[in-house]
Amino acid sequence: MWAVGALNKQIIRDFGPIWGVSASVDMAPSLDRVTPGKWKIALVDNIVIDGLSAFHGWVGTMPYALVEYSKTWTISLSHECLEMLADPFGQRLVPGQSIEDPQKRVEYLVEVCDPCQSDQFAYRVDGVLMSDFYTPNYFDPVFSPGVRYSFNTGNSDGADALQASSIPRPRNVPKGGYLTWHDPSTGKWSQYDNMGATPKIREIPPPAGVLARKAIDRFTRSRERMFWKKRHAKLPADFDAFDRSFFNDSVGNAKELIKKLCRKRGGMRVV
Ligand SMILES: [Zn+2]
Repeated sequence: MWAVGALNKQIIRDFGPIWGVSASVDMAPSLDRVTPGKWKIALVDNIVIDGLSAFHGWVGTMPYALVEYSKTWTISLSHECLEMLADPFGQRLVPGQSIEDPQKRVEYLVEVCDPCQSDQFAYRVDGVLMSDFYTPNYFDPVFSPGVRYSFNTGNSDGADALQASSIPRPRNVPKGGYLTWHDPSTGKWSQYDNMGATPKIREIPPPAGVLARKAIDRFTRSRERMFWKKRHAKLPADFDAFDRSFFNDSVGNAKELIKKLCRKRGGMRVV
């Protein structure tokens, strides 16, 4: 499929060399047709959790993601896939100067697309919109001229950008993005949220184990629906059951939980 081809190209050409990873993406018509042991990204019609249009997590040693079908689903697909590749288990932290208080050191969660997730920073690969992502230099202690802090600078090879990303310096969060960190001195987790009318910093629930990713993802609003969906998603009671069964071998069980979590109009595809 065209989106898978574009995503593969983004990984091989753009993301892989910068982040030192390699991967290839295939498409399968349904969950039970995915080769055992492969990481799964399920493309679904509707995620029945207010405010969530996509998220990634893991069960045991298996990372996974769900992506809701929408006008901009290829950006979400790219966002979740690249973040899975950079940090499959949602635990990669990079120490750096706090954006709140320059005297303070904090640990930033490596979520490569969050700050520059806005659709306006997406760029085309073979005509397909893919998410912009930050580079490892994003956490540099100081600004250096000529350093690329996010991939989409608007003039990169083959990148047909809507608009160059506006990450002009380390740890900058442009409009539409957010950034998450942990303060080792207090144990608190915080998020800089530049998705609303005015940027704000708020404390978020302390992540623990598998819940770490969701504690962060639940604050991530749908790009398309951010203005009308409820801000704080309420996770359904069976959310963890969904996690546990998503990658066990009883595909029927996983499908049933997906049915509960996702309103389906058409078939579900997995890429
Ligand atoms: Zn993300």
